[in-house]
Amino acid sequence: MFMSGLDAEERELYPGSVDRDSTLRDSPVNCAMPTIDCIFCHPQAESVIWSDARCRVLLVTDTPFAGFCRVVWRDHVAEFTELDRASRDHLMSVVAAVERSLRDLLSPDKVNLASLGNMMPHLHWHVIPRWRDDSHFPDAIWAAERRRGVPRELPPDFVTKVRKALDPLR
Ligand SMILES: [Zn+2]
Repeated sequence: MFMSGLDAEERELYPGSVDRDSTLRDSPVNCAMPTIDCIFCHPQAESVIWSDARCRVLLVTDTPFAGFCRVVWRDHVAEFTELDRASRDHLMSVVAAVERSLRDLLSPDKVNLASLGNMMPHLHWHVIPRWRDDSHFPDAIWAAERRRGVPRELPPDFVTKVRKALDPLR
């Protein structure tokens, strides 16, 4: 079957995005110029909880996985190795700080880091807190659901504390 699990996974992740089927996959998209159909170059609605000149951190709200964050590089770059070393270091410092915040604030059983970009080839990292009783554990969140997950709420000061943890990285 041509369609991989990752394609389905990312379609689930970006339910508001247009179905770009073969057009995007067949086109050279790894350029630095913003592309008109890229939801990270042209966001419709996203919950930005922190940003600096190079990247931004989103709280993913259309998910049952409370605390799911996404770190998005500002420029339209497809691959991690298109960044210079300083930029790579900065991006991963932000990813690490988000992971640290999720661990400190939510005490998950595990944190998943993922960078896929098959459907949306604009460099971004998913930082996902996981619990053994969530709907998909121990599988990736994009796999088939295993059970009815235990719902979780974020603490009221969650965003404030994540921002505070990230501010030294500016
Ligand atoms: Zn883009």
